[in-house]
Parts: sequence; structure tokens; C-alpha cells
Amino acid sequence: MKYLSTRNSNLDFSFFEILFQGLSKDGGLFLPHEWPSIDVNILKNKTYQEVALEVIHPYVFNEISINDLKKIIDESYQGFSHSKIAPVTAIDQNKYILELFYGPTFAFKDYALQFLGNLFKYALPKASKKLTVLGATSGDTGSAAIHAFRGKQDINVFILHPHNRVSDVQRRQMTTVQDDNIFNIAINGNFDDCQKIVKELFIDDELQQHTSLTAINSINWARLMAQVVYYFWAYLQIDEQEINFIVPSGNFGNVFSANVAKKMGLPVKHLHIATNENDILHSSINKGIMKKNIVKQTYSPSMDIQVSSNFERQLFESSGRNSEVIKDLFREFALQNSYILDRNILDDIKLVYTSSAVSDEQTLLTIKKVKEKYNYLADPHTSTGLNTLFDKDPGEPWVSLACAHPAKFGKAIEKSIGKPPIMPKDLSKLFDKEEKMTILDNNKKDLKSLILSKI
Ligand SMILES: *Cc1c(COP(=O)(O)O)cnc(C)c1O
Repeated sequence: MKYLSTRNSNLDFSFFEILFQGLSKDGGLFLPHEWPSIDVNILKNKTYQEVALEVIHPYVFNEISINDLKKIIDESYQGFSHSKIAPVTAIDQNKYILELFYGPTFAFKDYALQFLGNLFKYALPKASKKLTVLGATSGDTGSAAIHAFRGKQDINVFILHPHNRVSDVQRRQMTTVQDDNIFNIAINGNFDDCQKIVKELFIDDELQQHTSLTAINSINWARLMAQVVYYFWAYLQIDEQEINFIVPSGNFGNVFSANVAKKMGLPVKHLHIATNENDILHSSINKGIMKKNIVKQTYSPSMDIQVSSNFERQLFESSGRNSEVIKDLFREFALQNSYILDRNILDDIKLVYTSSAVSDEQTLLTIKKVKEKYNYLADPHTSTGLNTLFDKDPGEPWVSLACAHPAKFGKAIEKSIGKPPIMPKDLSKLFDKEEKMTILDNNKKDLKSLILSKI
């Protein structure tokens, strides 16, 4: 299996090349040259880990033997706290929830990042330099990455968060990890400042001479590949002819993984994209208008994104895999901050996707309604999906994704139902642990010296 870029379909990279590079130098995202297909019948009666092996192997078989891949997968999911890893619960006739919060940080990012951490551990001896993972976080990615890479040899992890601007649970999930290879940096600034410093360091030649920098925010194909698995897994649990999914979306990674499952042969009919008030995806799909607005802060912070990086992968597919079209499109989007999608691209997108945008008020109301009607407590991200689940045709199976545990977002829950969620033991334990972090001023120089002194 070889890989191309959405902005240069002539590229012919190996899996390990794209794993370490993350983002293509032409600005595009990596995708496989072709979609492997899987017969869903051979997956019946398999475990989550066995399904993962079947789904992932075709993408990596040139470089990783099936036995080694099996070990990587088994190691990645051994710490998950539910025997089914990603269980499906029925809340009503043909209405299901796929729960993805049984990893170490209680959000779905663990399903991909645990796997990524073990992939790097496996592949790193084959690379020449030590790896430095560098990223900025406002939500769940930072803690999932820290828990995926903690204690891994030859990998150092630097995660920036805006000082005093993340929730207590989110900060403690990062700062209470005591391993020597984990460095938490609180920047005196906002999330955009953190991201700016990270971007500047990625193009810093001096730093690149000392280490291989790897981005966790950059859209690594290996992450999406690991997410494809739970769509097959959900289908196997409900045993229907055809299935539909509702996916709370920010960077479009999760819902694109669902479409990859469809391309591989999973009988998916529709994919519904749920957004919050940051509704560029909804407007792109409904009206064909891709227009960048200012990011609004909402109760679902992990979806507070305006430019969804992975949407480029869908545009590439819907353009008939034409990298010239995609290059021109993003050149114009960068200049104008907006773009009107071509009719044929939009029609192709609409064959699979529908969308909705859910306000903060509706998000809280839905949490309350679902709690009262079904005695099910959803987090605010999950709630944006459940909001549409009720309007869907009861004659077809719809599976809505639960992307995080409600206890991670206690303030929003309390606002909605009048009392805080019950904290799982692993989360309440965080409040007894010692924290470790370095507070730095808002400039790249201080962080650069810190990194050079630690690696
Ligand atoms: C990251 C995240 C999302 C958005 O997923 P994308 O793949 O970026 O679309 C939604 N909900 C939660 C809880 C998340 O952590």
C-alpha cells in the first residue's frame, strides 16, 4: 500500500514515511492510493482487537507483519475499562449510542492515540533520530497524547495549553502524569498563541537538526485508520442490513473515518455531521459555502473549530481524486477566507452526508431531555448528535456517537440538569495527585530553549 497527498496525487510514499511526516510538504493530507475492501461476514464473532487487525492490516502490510500488528493492537486496548472496548447501547427503537469513552482519558481520542503511541514505539528504532511530539491543546487531544506516549523510550512530549484557560479535569489529566518524558507547558496567552508558537517551532531549522518533530494536532492518517475500526464494530453489534451514523464533528476526522469504513465495504447509508455554533461544516454541506468565521467558545470545546483540516480529504474524494482541483481550491480559500464549492463536488458530498448545527441552548436542553426520557447522561459533544437522533426515521437504524464521558464537562452538565455528574474514581483521583507543569511567557524563544535543554 502506497500513499499520495491530496495536493499531489503522484506521490508514492510508504506507510512509515507518512506516519512520521504527518502532513505532506505540499500542505496536503495523506491518503492511500486505493481503498482495500473487507467482507463484513468474515468479521462476525471476532473481538474488537481481531476486527482492528482485519481493518488496519491492508494499510500497513508492507511494513508491519500481521503478528507484530497484532501485538501493537493488543497492547493499545488492554487498558480500556469496558470488555467490549466500544459498546453499543440501544436507547429506543432503532436508536443507538456507540460509547467511545472507555480509554484512559475518557474521550474517543484514546482509541486512535493509544494505537499511535504504540505504532511509534514499534517504528522508532527504524528511524534515525529521537522523536519530539509537540502540540497545543484546548480540549482532549493533549491528555490523550500524553497518556499514549508516557514512558515511551526515545520519545519526548511537549504539550502547550493556555494558562488558566482549560478545565480543572482537563488540566489535571495532563499535569498529574509524572513520567520523565512528559512536559506540560502553560503559556501565558490563549489557545491561538499556543498554536502560533507550535507552528513557528515546526519550521525552526535549528530545532529540526536536533530532533524529529511530530505534530499530534496534524492530521495523521494512522489516527483515522484506527477510528475506522469502531464503525465496523458498531455494525457487528446491532446486526442490521444497513446502518446510519450521527457524528459530532470538529476537525472532520471521526466522520471521515466512517466514510472510509463505507468505502471499505461497510453497508453505511447516511452519515450525519453534527456541529455546534461553529457551523462551517454545516454551511459547506448545506449551501456549498465554505466561509471562515471567528471561533466561538461553546459547551462542546473540542468541536470549537472553524477550518476542519480533514474536510480536505473528503473534498479530494468528491472531486474524483483530483489533486489539482484541491490545490487551486485551497489556494483561493487561503486568499479569500471563503470558497463556493463546485456543483459536482457538492452533489457527491450530499450523496452520503447530511448535517445540522446545534446551539448551546439546544445542547443543554437535549442533555436534560435525554436524561429525563431515557435516564442516559450525555456529555455536551454527544448531545449535539442526540439532538438530531430524535428526528431520524424510526424505520432505519441510527447510531449516534458518544465521544466523551459526561464527567469531563461537569459545569455544562450541572447547568443542564441542576446537579453535577458522578465522577468515575479515576477522574476524582486526579484531585489528590501532584501537578507538574512549567509556566512560560508567550514567545517561541523560551520554549525552544526549554526543549533543547530537555531532549
Ligand atoms: C475531538 C472531539 C470531537 C471532534 O472530532 P473530530 O474528529 O475533530 O471531528 C468531538 N467530541 C469530542 C469529545 C472530541 O474530543
